[in-house]
Amino acid sequence: MLTLHVLQAILFKNFALYETRTIYKIKKGKHNMNLILLGAPGAGKGTQATKISDRYGLVHISTGDIFRANIKNGTKIGLLAKSFIDKGELVPDEVTCEIVKDRLTWEDCKNGYLLDGFPRNLFQAEELEKFAKIDGVVNINIDFKLLMDRLCGRRVCKECGESFHVSTLNGATTCSRCGGELYQRKDDNPETVGSRLNVYNEQTAPLIDYYTKKGIILNFTGSEAPAEVLFEEIKAGLDQMTK
Ligand SMILES: [Zn+2]
Repeated sequence: MLTLHVLQAILFKNFALYETRTIYKIKKGKHNMNLILLGAPGAGKGTQATKISDRYGLVHISTGDIFRANIKNGTKIGLLAKSFIDKGELVPDEVTCEIVKDRLTWEDCKNGYLLDGFPRNLFQAEELEKFAKIDGVVNINIDFKLLMDRLCGRRVCKECGESFHVSTLNGATTCSRCGGELYQRKDDNPETVGSRLNVYNEQTAPLIDYYTKKGIILNFTGSEAPAEVLFEEIKAGLDQMTK
């Protein structure tokens, strides 16, 4: 069903087509590339995003951050996005694409960027291709059983928010940092974790195919090893790619 907001989004999209925008053509260099980061929930994507952007001097572009900034600054597209968020609805792909497209024209993007949280589905990936040149896709997979164990064994401190894993607690029920009581989050149960992963896989599987066919995907597997170990692998892959 076409709601008023979807119509607005479509109108806005068409309107935006007539705006002149500067799209920087990125010349690929060692520290000058445009990347996409894909990662299942619980795969440690946030940590890797920071490490990759630091190492290669890329701007970390998180869709969540751009939305928040646009909403805070009261931009036209920010207000449009907010109208969906306020109703608890998903922001339509057209709006999300427009907001990312605009962000990529900023001066700081010309030395390369890392897209995090975008594209989320095939439609967004195909749109992205119209206004950006992507050099590589870093895809972090995580073993289903490992994810279950990681999330379902998580215990969080009520006071300071620090999280622990039951396997390291030796039966302790209080936080080793502040003495606060530890609890298990409602979402950290096999059913919720399982459905979160299923949703992610459903949306992302076509993206993985899409970028595999383009020959620009680098696949990694998250493990129980420290984040540095995975980052070393990612670094090796990216260095190889940009050689
Ligand atoms: Zn604590």
